[in-house]
Amino acid sequence: MGFAGVLGHEFVGEVVQSPDRNLIGQRVVGEINVVCGRCDLCLSGLSNHCRNRSVLGILNHDGAFAEYLRLPAMNLHALPDSLDDDAATFVEPLAAAFQVLKQVNLDAGKWVTVLGDGRLGLLVAQVLREANCQVRVIGRHQEKLALCEKWSIRSRPLADIVPRHDQDVVVDCTGSAAGLELALRMVRPRGTVVLKTTAAAGAAVNLAPVVIDEINIIGSRCGPFRQAILALAEKRIDVASLIHRRMKLDQGVEAMDLAGRPGVLKVILSCT
Ligand SMILES: [Zn+2]
Repeated sequence: MGFAGVLGHEFVGEVVQSPDRNLIGQRVVGEINVVCGRCDLCLSGLSNHCRNRSVLGILNHDGAFAEYLRLPAMNLHALPDSLDDDAATFVEPLAAAFQVLKQVNLDAGKWVTVLGDGRLGLLVAQVLREANCQVRVIGRHQEKLALCEKWSIRSRPLADIVPRHDQDVVVDCTGSAAGLELALRMVRPRGTVVLKTTAAAGAAVNLAPVVIDEINIIGSRCGPFRQAILALAEKRIDVASLIHRRMKLDQGVEAMDLAGRPGVLKVILSCT
């Protein structure tokens, strides 16, 4: 997005100031789209696509790698005590994972591949497992694929894969332009490819298979916070296994460097 400012949009915090006094002192997470409530998209229930939006840590709005951040009260969700701070930092990306279930009709008979064993891929895979479809994860990292085994989710190393145009749904969480091309070779005719990352921006992709095989391509971004909070509070999704290290805010540059290394899933920054 070419954003310059304070980064960070996956956070948990405590409300210290608000016109709504009931909120003060509450432990909260927050939806990241700050919307106008007046444009045609807001009025038609698509406020995540507000034409005048700013987005926490991403677009015209300073983010969460700071002691304080500001969000409208309507964006906040108070947390149950059963959800600890570490787990709460996963609400935003887990909500994005649940969005796939809102967009694609999955049932027990469907064959679904999640491409990518990064943080988002591993969250999406756990969410799809709840939908009872035949889900498998394709990735490059043995230690991440081992997590799938722990969760009873099938997985295969990318090197072993021969695309056969046989998957009902492929969810691309690779964060690389090559992911879409591979997804198009794995999905069956009339199947669905869900794009969860913006990595294909600017890349040259051959879209002929989309026409020839009549493939649905669905873009997918933010999702339902309430569902994510409930799933974490009920311990249906394992996020503790994804945390690599906890660091202080003043180690932020070092933390960013660490988070960018292969094999590292989540680094938590603490402001206190
Ligand atoms: Zn709007």
